[in-house]
Amino acid sequence: MTNTRDTEPDRLPDPSDIAAAANILCGGGLVAFPTETVYGLGADARDGTAVAGIYALKNRPAFNPLIVHVPDREAAAELVRFPAQADALADAFWPGPFTLVLPARSDNGISSLVTAGLDTLAVRVPSHPSARALLTVAACPVAGPSANRSGRISPTRADHVRAEFGADAPLVLDGGASADGLESTIVDLSGDVPALLRPGTVARDAIEAVLGEPLSDLGEMMAGAPTAPGQLASHYAPAASIRLDVAIAQDDEGFLGFGPEMPTHNGPSFNLSVAGDLREAAANLFDALRTLDASGVPMIAVMPIPAQGVGEAINDRLRRAAAPRT
Ligand code: AMP
Ligand code: MG
Repeated sequence: MTNTRDTEPDRLPDPSDIAAAANILCGGGLVAFPTETVYGLGADARDGTAVAGIYALKNRPAFNPLIVHVPDREAAAELVRFPAQADALADAFWPGPFTLVLPARSDNGISSLVTAGLDTLAVRVPSHPSARALLTVAACPVAGPSANRSGRISPTRADHVRAEFGADAPLVLDGGASADGLESTIVDLSGDVPALLRPGTVARDAIEAVLGEPLSDLGEMMAGAPTAPGQLASHYAPAASIRLDVAIAQDDEGFLGFGPEMPTHNGPSFNLSVAGDLREAAANLFDALRTLDASGVPMIAVMPIPAQGVGEAINDRLRRAAAPRT
């Protein structure tokens, strides 16, 4: 079970598929769509009934607010206010795997279910061509959490979404494998200091370089408080249990490794990046967890992964995948 990263380029969107998906969104339905981070489960963010459908299908706690996807910054500016730092970050990282939490405009029309009643809104401009085409044609703000049951592994391929929801699956736009493979980096600019709510493939150093100041770690602080939106300690969980920082796996375990020095293993194994490339490892992470899980092992042992750059986000996901489940 050794991997190679799926190098297939993002599939170009077929206009008739995009039109069909946009029709469903505009009619109050749900659509699963590809992005460069993971596949999203989309609904018109202004339509409370449609958004309720997201929470129901995912079995997501209603206190966990959703990210709204828009085609460009102009569309975002209709929903939220942009302080100067937000302009700088949007210039640097949009379109891309990067979400800003900003003060919401009171007249933006977004359902209060999307924000879980907060006066802030999380917005993102994705770069994936299918996502951009869908947002442009649907011409509505699209609430889009990851297209998986709450607490489980995020999908990075259309097949993952179909497997996740089975007969309940909505229309899935197939855009190939997600290039980044981890959920967007989330920065909160609504408070006194910029805070990193969730690490992602846009790494901390790059953001701090644009801001000219350090990011506070609100995300880490909130990790212990289960009522805080979206910072749940247990998340991204496979059926198997997970042990971290393991040098050599036991025979009955699955082994998730990284780098050229990964020891050989008798049971199922997956090397996130033989070359030791953290971006490749991020892109492979969720597929690797799904693959090892599907082999039926009771435990997945994970080698140490360096924490710098994108490694911070990989380690964040692995810690949550390994956390005690509630
Ligand atoms: P997901 O939809 O699974 O990618 O998760 C979205 C993340 O964005 C969660 O961690 C939410 O808590 C976070 N989020 C969304 N809206 C807000 C907001 N207004 N304030 C703080 N965090 C938010
Ligand atoms: Mg998710």
